Amino acid sequence: MAASRTIIVAGAGIGGLTAALALAAKGFRVVVLEKAERLEEAGAGLQLSPNAGRVLIELGLERRLSECAIVPEAVTVMSGPTGRPIVRLPLGAAATQRAGAPYWVIHRADLQAALAERVKAHPLIELRLGCRFEEVTSHAEGVSVAQRRGTARLQEPALALIGADGIWSAVRGQIFPAAQPRFSGLIAWRATAPLKPGVEIVREVQLWMGPGAHLVVYPISGGRRINMVGIVRGDWSRQGWSAPGAPADIKAAFAHWSAEAQGVIGRAESWKRWALFAMQDGGIWSNGATALLGDAAHGMLPFAAQGAGMAIEDAAVLAKCLGEMAADSSGTTAAVPAALRRYAAERRGRVARVQRLARQNGAIYHFSGGAALARDVAMRLIGGQRLLARQHWVYDWQL
Ligand SMILES: Cc1cc2nc3c(=O)[nH]c(=O)nc-3n(C[C@H](O)[C@H](O)[C@H](O)COP(=O)(O)OP(=O)(O)OC[C@H]3O[C@@H](n4cnc5c(N)ncnc54)[C@H](O)[C@@H]3O)c2cc1C
Repeated sequence: MAASRTIIVAGAGIGGLTAALALAAKGFRVVVLEKAERLEEAGAGLQLSPNAGRVLIELGLERRLSECAIVPEAVTVMSGPTGRPIVRLPLGAAATQRAGAPYWVIHRADLQAALAERVKAHPLIELRLGCRFEEVTSHAEGVSVAQRRGTARLQEPALALIGADGIWSAVRGQIFPAAQPRFSGLIAWRATAPLKPGVEIVREVQLWMGPGAHLVVYPISGGRRINMVGIVRGDWSRQGWSAPGAPADIKAAFAHWSAEAQGVIGRAESWKRWALFAMQDGGIWSNGATALLGDAAHGMLPFAAQGAGMAIEDAAVLAKCLGEMAADSSGTTAAVPAALRRYAAERRGRVARVQRLARQNGAIYHFSGGAALARDVAMRLIGGQRLLARQHWVYDWQL
């Protein structure tokens, strides 16, 4: 296929792989550059709400994901200090039926592996592992993308470049060098632990709230493991997914919490730390024939559980906008920048609203004293069903 029908995607995370599949479904040839030699286990669990699930199902992944994902029965909100449940938001079959797609919890590595399998099998997609995006230059025919594999440097023409290279995006560094993620003052501690044989899987997401901290726990890997994320304040702000964290430090951070919460934390053998950075709401996402997607465009705090979800939605909208352009006989090269601007315009408002929701959730989860008591009373009064309904604008999104 001609280079003028080729789109280069930098980054084979959840956003980049979904974009590759969605673009290939529109008939584009896609080259995915991934700097890592292997798609290793990075991160841990992900909650994938129906807005994201719908896109993945449309791409043909339902059966494969059902093998490793779990559909939780509910989100149970608990008090970290007392260990008592506050409210239960019902999910399960009824929520799946209402939304027309499941609410999944899944290991990020399982989702990435499922996407990568499809990508590798697709005749229009080439996945280049160990290949780093280095530089983009624009010209009349589109872009020229410099990439490095070991000592070899390759310059390749393409119709467009999509930067799906995460919150520390090199593509964004080139096209919008002033746009930098900011440290939130919060650190995510992540761990998984095996479920002991014979122990029944608790098919729910547990959210434990406490002063200045919260804890999220749910089953992953088809119910063989549990995923735990503890969020605490701190000033350690190193980049990356995988810095080890001392179990004694996280235990100390939750030392004033209930025995139940401490029991959950005690199940993990090792912890990884991730300093939480976020991009400003509503930045610019496209410049000529180059656009950003996922965390590269809008890395957000994880407290709405929507970072990967928004990357997946981005991928679907990007492919739709570029696909519409491909059908336009007026010439694709010239139409690319306008299609990418349309993509960004369609996404920015919704994503900014989700970014705000994530910040608000974080603040509410971390209330202390009288504010925490009032929050708990209000949550009980509103009730789980109505609290869930407040999320419908997120979950009901359709392309
Ligand atoms: C504690 C925590 C919990 C979370 N929970 C949820 C949740 O429940 N639900 C949810 O939807 N989201 C959640 N998220 C957010 C989610 O993990 C991210 O938003 C999502 O993974 C971003 O995907 P991405 O593809 O944009 O970027 P990434 O996953 O960061 O992928 C970027 C890829 O680009 C590659 N790359 C980087 N630079 C280059 C280069 N120069 N050349 C080539 N390749 C490059 C990287 O190696 C990587 O593979 C959570 C995040 C955290 C921290």
